[in-house]
Amino acid sequence: MNPAELPHQVHESGANGVFDRIEDAIEAGYIAQLNYVKQFQLKDREKIITAIREAVIENKEKLAQMVFEETKLGRYEDKIAKHELVARKTPGTEDITTAAFSGDEGLTIIEQAPFGLVGAVTPVTNPTETIINNSISLLAAGNAVVLNVHPSSKVSCAFVVNLINQAIKDTGGPENLVSMVKDPTLETLNRIIESPKVKLLVGTGGPGMVKTLLKSGKKAIGAGAGNPPVIVDETADLKQAAKSIIEGASFDNNLLCIAEKELFVIDSVADDLIFHMLNEGAYMLDQQQLSKLMSFALEENVHQEAGGCSLDNKREYHVSKDWVGKDAVSFLRQLGIAHEEDIKLLICEVDFDHPFVQLEQMMPVFPIVRVGNLDEAIEMALLAEHGNRHTAIMHSKNVDHLTKFARAIETTIFVKNASSLAGVGFGGEGHTTMTIAGPTGEGITSAKTFTRQRRCVLAEGGFRIIG
Ligand code: NAD
Repeated sequence: MNPAELPHQVHESGANGVFDRIEDAIEAGYIAQLNYVKQFQLKDREKIITAIREAVIENKEKLAQMVFEETKLGRYEDKIAKHELVARKTPGTEDITTAAFSGDEGLTIIEQAPFGLVGAVTPVTNPTETIINNSISLLAAGNAVVLNVHPSSKVSCAFVVNLINQAIKDTGGPENLVSMVKDPTLETLNRIIESPKVKLLVGTGGPGMVKTLLKSGKKAIGAGAGNPPVIVDETADLKQAAKSIIEGASFDNNLLCIAEKELFVIDSVADDLIFHMLNEGAYMLDQQQLSKLMSFALEENVHQEAGGCSLDNKREYHVSKDWVGKDAVSFLRQLGIAHEEDIKLLICEVDFDHPFVQLEQMMPVFPIVRVGNLDEAIEMALLAEHGNRHTAIMHSKNVDHLTKFARAIETTIFVKNASSLAGVGFGGEGHTTMTIAGPTGEGITSAKTFTRQRRCVLAEGGFRIIG
């Protein structure tokens, strides 16, 4: 999307939340939040959130198209679904509750109060979806937010910030509750981190960004990378497992941090599972095709830099940015394979130490590792997850097996007998989030995550009993 196609207001600094200077974005957000908590009640917050939901749903195709064209990642139709998901299933003010204790010694209530202005960092993989999800949660909690978005998504992000502010304005709400700098850089992020007006930091992205926020000296909520393993054991419904794995691993071309990234399957059922995956539309790469694919989709890590989903591991390869989030058909064309227009997922049989198992590849290329037994599968899954404790998936009818894996892997999200998408409320119960705070422990974030506890005490019921 060309910036010239954006609504007129976005080009004017400060109009509807998008600023030329980060200092102005911070100041505007700060003033907006003071006004918001003073002048607006909970019912007004809910009205504002309803307006944001409606504006997003009305514009979901446009938002999906803009993000797709600007980032060149993922699948248009899946991006529509993601926008709809965050608009409908991000909790609003109902998430903010008050606890009360009453008795002979009076009444004590614990309220969830806002932090104030919150600084948020968003990823290129779910750029506008994260802004919508974070904004609903933060505004429901009484905060305002100043964003530092991924530079490769800044046009779409400016568009959604404009859309959200316009929706707020149309309900009579304050200006600039959601603000951003038009050209975000690491320097603008530093200004947010250092500003005394920003009381809390929230970051969604890779481990480098989370580390930066955690070093800030401020409270930070970090939602980092994952490399979700799937285990399929000999008791699983293999047809259902095949279908679910393809759904999760191919959704938005595997961009999601929760998406199935590698499979460990018990050898005795591996052939049958692969048979069902092929029936469900996956394409099996032979060893020659796999080597060729690696030659363009991976890059040698010549400088032995840390990166990807784990900062601790120096790796032989990086993923090639040119191939992250591309669709399966593009990979097939590059391999010289034509007439396979419906394929959404490529599968390949590899060993445990293959780069596609170890890297968070974010491509619709799905590695399958055969294992002898469940213990071996669990041991490998733990190593491949690199201690991120993000997401894991298992297909099994044996409760003991499910429990054993869940206890060993300790992930924030553990999905049984469904696709990873169920873990964020897409085809599963519970609310959604685009910010899964594993490293700092808040988990599936929502409005109450972004609140401070305040205790208010009325001792002895307000009067002293004599006697
Ligand atoms: P990224 O880490 O490259 O960028 C994320 C954001 O952080 C961007 O705004 C970027 O500008 C900024 N950033 C990058 N490096 C930084 C640094 N060293 N210091 C400060 N800021 C920095 O990630 P991405 O490519 O945009 O997104 C994909 C990654 O995000 C994947 O690893 C994925 O697993 C993760 N992710 C996690 C969640 C979650 O909820 N846990 C959700 C979506 C994506």
